[in-house]
Order: sequence, then structure tokens, then C-alpha cells
Amino acid sequence: MSCSITKYADELAKNAAYIGTPGKGILAVDESIDTIGKRLSSINVENVEENRRCFRELLFTTPEALQYLSGVILFEETLYQKTSSGKPFVDVLKEGCVLPGIKLDKGYVELNGTNGEIFTQGLDGLARQCQKYYEAGARFAKWHAKIRPDEPTELAIQENANRLAMYAAISQQCGLVPIVEPDILPTGPHDINKCAAVTERFLAACYKALIYHNVMLEGTLLKTNMVTPGSGSLKVSPEVIAEHTVRALQRTVPVAVPAILFLSGGQSEEEATLNLNEMNKLQTKKPWSLSFAFGRALQQSTLKAWAGKKGEFEEGTRCVPR
Ligand code: 13P
Repeated sequence: MSCSITKYADELAKNAAYIGTPGKGILAVDESIDTIGKRLSSINVENVEENRRCFRELLFTTPEALQYLSGVILFEETLYQKTSSGKPFVDVLKEGCVLPGIKLDKGYVELNGTNGEIFTQGLDGLARQCQKYYEAGARFAKWHAKIRPDEPTELAIQENANRLAMYAAISQQCGLVPIVEPDILPTGPHDINKCAAVTERFLAACYKALIYHNVMLEGTLLKTNMVTPGSGSLKVSPEVIAEHTVRALQRTVPVAVPAILFLSGGQSEEEATLNLNEMNKLQTKKPWSLSFAFGRALQQSTLKAWAGKKGEFEEGTRCVPR
């Protein structure tokens, strides 16, 4: 490999800072073919390439939508797709001042020696993939690592943190800003304090690993979970979620990281937005910008509207399922 971090250092820092522009966020449409299939089946639309393209075209060409975005995370198939009039999606995004990103992880496998914990795969041949995606116009990447909230083993924490750091180092060598995505799964009966403790433990391990792997933190972004009670526990207010989340981040995320962008993790569009709003209202130390990198919480209403009101979209977004 001929690429090196020095070659891209300025570009990485510039692009990471741009994605973290206050008031903008990321649309995550990097669902794998299987996952988008589940979303499409909920509106009785067949999971074929043309329907996946069509839904993504609607998201990217809705008038005035792109002004609220600084980045869009794509799945490989979408990186190479075009609008129905033949314009590459990558060009649509760039013209709207939105950086295209790419999902690099290749799903999860069981971690031997644990009771069903998992790690993320996809490191084999990663540098070559990164070069290919950079040439196709991608400027950032993401790698998702999932940790269970109930007493995760040190092995799962360390293995996932190390893999995130290796991915981040390779991405930077090839000019892609790595979004590091450590995620504490929301399912279970645990309370918010448990979620906070496990979030802090995993984030601390991730930053230790990133520093050991010489990753330039100014050229990275963090995408992570909000600190919430588990799905089987009593709900708490957005103010309480904001306080717990920002405190966990203050304790673990270096100031050098330009922005923290949250996943929605199964929260409704309204819940996720209210929680993020409370974090931004908090009067406390916040050296990074805080925004969204939602998948489901930015797509749910559009998905329903698309299936239900064929032809009622503005010109340029008249995309109907086949
Ligand atoms: P949501 O949890 O917001 O659906 O997104 C998950 C994700 O990581 C997509 O990139």
C-alpha cells in the first residue's frame, strides 16, 4: 500500500470538522441488503435492487433535505447507484454539500470462549476496499461494534475496541475519516446507571486502543449510543438521558474528537430528537459538537409516506415501488 496518514492528515481533519458542523448531522442509510429487506417488508415492498435504489433516491432528492446533512453513510451497492435520470448518487450528495460515507464492517460473529458475545468482522483486505471506495467518492467510513449491557466480558470489550482501532488506522491511511461506532445494545431490564457504567467502560477501552494504534483523533468521529435505561426498564425523561449521556462522554471522549453523532438504536423519531435537543441545551462542558447519525429515526416516516402516497412527492422525487 502506498497511502500514508501524512498524505491525508489535513484532509482528514478538515472533513471530520466539516461533518461535525453545528446544526448538521448524518443520515445513516447503510443498511445491509438483509436489513433494508426487513424495512421494505414492513411496507409490503419487495427487496430488489430497483426498490432499494428508489427509496434511497427519494431520501437524497427530497427538496431542501440535504441542507440539514453534512454526511450520508451508504452501503456499497448505493455508493455506485444513480438517480432515475442517471445522475450518480455521489454527485447528488456532493452538489448538496454532503460528504458520502461507506459502511466497512461485515457483520458480527460469535466470540469463542464467551457466552454468546460477538465481535465485528471485516478487517481482511480492508485497505484495498478503502482505496476503492475513496476513488468512488467516499470520504468517511463507519465500523459498528456492539457490546451487551449486562456484564460484558473484558475479552469482548478489548477485542471489539482493538478491531475498531485497527479499522480506524487503516481508513485514515487511505483518506477516509473513520466513524468509530461503539454501541451498547439497548435491549434488557438494566437501568440507566448500568448503561452509563458499561458505556464508559467501552468508550474508555476504545480511546485507549485508538491512541495505541496511532489514530489521529482530530480526523475521527464518534458515533455511539445515548445512555438510556434498557428496553425492559422504566422510561426516564429526556433531561435525565441527556445528563447521563453527556457525563459518560465527558469522562471518556478526548477533546481532540471534533463531533459525537448518536445512533437512534430503536428510539422513535421524536424520542431520539428530544433526547439530542436536551443534550444541546445542557449548560455544561461540551468540547465536541453533538448531533445525529440516525438510521431508523430519520427514515421511518419517509418509508411509510413513500409506500402510502405514491406520486404525491415533488418533481424529482416521484419514485414509486415496482
Ligand atoms: P439506528 O440505530 O439509528 O437505526 O442506526 C444504526 C446504525 O448504526 C446505522 O448506521
